[in-house]
Amino acid sequence: SLPTIFVITPTYARLVQKAELTRLSQTFLHVPQLHWIVVEDSQHKTPLVGQLLAKSGLSYTHLHVATAKERKLQEGDPSWLKPRGVEQRNEALRWLREDRKAQTDARGQQGVVYFADDDNTYIFSDEERTIRHRAAIPFQVVRFHVGWRPSRPFPMDMAGFAVSLKLLLSNPDARFDGNAPMGLLESSLLQGLVTMDQLEPRADNCTKVLVWHTRTEKPKMKREDALQAQGLGSDA
Ligand code: UDP
Ligand code: MN
Repeated sequence: SLPTIFVITPTYARLVQKAELTRLSQTFLHVPQLHWIVVEDSQHKTPLVGQLLAKSGLSYTHLHVATAKERKLQEGDPSWLKPRGVEQRNEALRWLREDRKAQTDARGQQGVVYFADDDNTYIFSDEERTIRHRAAIPFQVVRFHVGWRPSRPFPMDMAGFAVSLKLLLSNPDARFDGNAPMGLLESSLLQGLVTMDQLEPRADNCTKVLVWHTRTEKPKMKREDALQAQGLGSDA
């Protein structure tokens, strides 16, 4: 049988959340043997996300953990100030290592783990499923061709790599470091898992673009907020 692709998605409440998660779920429905791990940045699992998942037709796990207040980006902060979704991704790693352990033991450790933020656009190719790590490596990564901070240990975006489940389970302490300086969050996990020469290029030897960091425009609610302030809002 096909190895499972575990997709980890941190998500938080905002006006476009349902749109983002709907779009993602429709992408994932095209992918066989995919298990979606959705981790809400909230004190409780919300009905909005719960219902969306229940209706999605996908195999999924619904988790939640609230980002500590001092770590949370505040309204008006520039987006690079603090890493986002860190505790949520780590919670998903914990679930894979601990809660799912009985199944992992019974069914082996075949699988691939991928981090998919809720606002990006993804193309899935079957090549991704075959990350073996320490098996035959057809090509080797020598260096990265990137414009921004090429000196990073692993100059890759969150959506630019996947790791084998086996590798995560055999390195139980590897996780994201919420205190990592800007741009080094990905490296903080990967440094606990692999060395550069162990990376296995995918997407036709890294010649294809399969993910876009599309950003959704924040709805402008100035007029609606003004109505609310006048007591003429929908709940007036
Ligand atoms: N996120 C979250 N809590 C937050 C802000 C973001 O869980 O307070 C999630 C968000 O839903 C996304 C991921 O973390 O899946 C990355 O956030 P965002 O897309 O805002 O970051 P950027 O792409 O700008 O780095
Ligand atoms: Mn994003």
